[in-house]
Amino acid sequence: MNRNKIAKACIVGLAIFLSVDGFGKTCVIAHRGYWKAAGSARNSISSLSNAQKLSIYGSETDVHLSADGTVIINHDDSIGGYDISSTPLPVLKTLKLSNGEMLPTLEEYLNQTRKDKNMRLIIEIKNKKDTLLEQRTVKAVVDLVRKMKMNKAVEYISFSMNACKTLLRVKAGAPIAFLAGKEGALTPAILKSIGLSGLDYHYSVLMKHPEWIAEAHSLGLTVNAWTVNDPVIIRKLIDLGTDYITTDEPVIAKEMLANK
Ligand code: MG
Repeated sequence: MNRNKIAKACIVGLAIFLSVDGFGKTCVIAHRGYWKAAGSARNSISSLSNAQKLSIYGSETDVHLSADGTVIINHDDSIGGYDISSTPLPVLKTLKLSNGEMLPTLEEYLNQTRKDKNMRLIIEIKNKKDTLLEQRTVKAVVDLVRKMKMNKAVEYISFSMNACKTLLRVKAGAPIAFLAGKEGALTPAILKSIGLSGLDYHYSVLMKHPEWIAEAHSLGLTVNAWTVNDPVIIRKLIDLGTDYITTDEPVIAKEMLANK
């Protein structure tokens, strides 16, 4: 075997070792962008731009559908007293975030996302009581991402299994992870059988079921923990082999990984 072949064999062996044993590098995702930077706000264009400057894996955001079919970036169902799903875009565009920035659309967010080819946008499809509204939201999001040719730049997450299954049905063409809080977590085997690509659980669930991390990896699923701001818990999750940590403290998490 020549030197090149030996080097290649070593790299393949190392990759298998890392994936099987779950010692792959943990990556950081900024929760609603890096909004703690001066002058920013959660889910603003500046919070996304600030996250891009950190050279981290991703920036998470939340989406809703306006009454006239535009995908809007916001965490809650309503903003400034307006329920997003029953308000048209021209009204929503008069609203401002806490730092004075305009309420962004997903299209504006994707335009900012494409300025940094190395960072992913993690799009949370917000769960609704109205399952048809969830499905219309998924369709609008996926259509826009496709139109902008940005499938490779995004990943999808949702607490709604209806939204996750709709993403699968429309062949979203990007990873889809199921979100769960302290209640509602499903085993990696169930998520795999549904066809999802990962789990995105409250960190306490992973502390309670650390065996799910290896189980997920053995099934080819990714593991994300949210929203982890305490360095002690960040450390534990890194040591457990969690793939992604979603945090309001991306700078601290990044430094901890650099000093691992
Ligand atoms: Mg979210």
